[in-house]
Amino acid sequence: MTTTSTKTAAESAQNASLQVAQGVVPVAENISVFERTQEVIRTALEVMNYNDSYYELLKEPLRLLTVRIPIRMDDGKVKVFVGYRAQHNDAVGPTKGGIRFHPDVTEEEVKALSMWMSIKCGITNLPYGGGKGGIQCDPRTMSMGELERLSRGYVRAVSQIVGPTKDIPAPDVFTNAQIMAWMMDEYSRIREFDAPGFITGKPLVLGGSIGRESSTAKGVTIVMREAAAAMGMSIPGSRVIIQGFGNAGSFLAKFLYDAGAKVVGISDAVGALYNPDGLNIDELMDKRDSFGTVTNLFPSRITNQELLVKDCDILVPAAIENQITEKNAHDIKARILVEAANGPTTTKATEILSERGVLIVPDVLASAGGVVVSYFEWVQNNQGYYWTEDEVNERLDRILTDAFHNVYDTSRTKRVHMRLAAYIVGLRKMAEASRLRGWL
Ligand code: NAD
Repeated sequence: MTTTSTKTAAESAQNASLQVAQGVVPVAENISVFERTQEVIRTALEVMNYNDSYYELLKEPLRLLTVRIPIRMDDGKVKVFVGYRAQHNDAVGPTKGGIRFHPDVTEEEVKALSMWMSIKCGITNLPYGGGKGGIQCDPRTMSMGELERLSRGYVRAVSQIVGPTKDIPAPDVFTNAQIMAWMMDEYSRIREFDAPGFITGKPLVLGGSIGRESSTAKGVTIVMREAAAAMGMSIPGSRVIIQGFGNAGSFLAKFLYDAGAKVVGISDAVGALYNPDGLNIDELMDKRDSFGTVTNLFPSRITNQELLVKDCDILVPAAIENQITEKNAHDIKARILVEAANGPTTTKATEILSERGVLIVPDVLASAGGVVVSYFEWVQNNQGYYWTEDEVNERLDRILTDAFHNVYDTSRTKRVHMRLAAYIVGLRKMAEASRLRGWL
């Protein structure tokens, strides 16, 4: 490790970490997700005594490609879509991360998401750095033909910087296995060989991995089990509230319900349901629509904000960003907060909850199950040999259990909150790999 040259700097870094942990440092609530990520990276590097050049290297992606993709729409007119691919740091290995299709995709968001992917890969000790891609579009208004042409056009536009040993994409918001299949086919055509390892989240018949679809939720249950044990609790009998009933939230509710937890609350974009005796998750799964909406069928529903402060042992935000803020953090009843969603808790709320003794399992750890099974898919593609569901689950369990304890132990030994500890663990290998390559 490279250390800062003066004792004073080391001391001030240690003080900074304690102050953040204790909620002394004033932090702005209105900064962007990108700036918030930079702030945690800076503090984590300070706690590890890395000098400023490490922050200069890691505060932004190494590479960002912006592309304009002309697509002929079904009405015969050509529309030009803007897309991005960000690669945060490839010192450890190729970069990895999803591609989202959404009207609100911005350059800054894609950059921040690529940095989060680096941290997730570091925490889980995968041989990757972080990447992310996005296209400004609304797939809900596009035909299958238009979506296919856009997916293929994006791969042609970024093909120079992606590939099975360079940067491996995956699904994200509003992209799915079919889109991955088109992208894999386009890349294979360009390179003139079959390249299943170019992208993950593919359909099973094209080299997808068993267990990929529910891997994020499965990962959440593993770190939740470890967090509960650390707090002297266990999943069977625990009362859990889950905000969001989409891919992550509904699979999670089902796993927990089957494991004997009492899921007392769930929500979607319309509202929330709460029953202290437990909800019937099988019934809700049957009734929910393809967008993860179900509460519209129940007149007794409450609001999302009301749900978050209801009585429970474990709270899982699994919907959108910035749900737990300084406004409601004091009223949260849960003893454990497991962030299945990306960025659900503001910096200030993190401090308030940590001060109150709530154990936070941060997003970069809690939602890492998806990228771990994506890694398994890539390994299987490279080997041409496919694993059973038990093999996938057992390996996922081992990696995430180790990851939880690395972060938890770091949090205890360095006396910092779990989010900062996660960034410390997540950045360490990347910083060292960058130094050993002679970049610093
Ligand atoms: P999804 O689109 O399948 O479901 C989202 C759910 O949130 C739906 O039930 C929707 O009704 C609800 N929702 C939308 N707006 C809401 C609002 N304003 N208030 C309350 N609920 C609202 O999405 P998903 O794939 O389940 O992802 C959810 C979160 O988990 C996101 O933050 C995502 O980035 C994160 N995540 C998901 C995965 C994954 O593999 N699915 C992986 C990593 C992280």
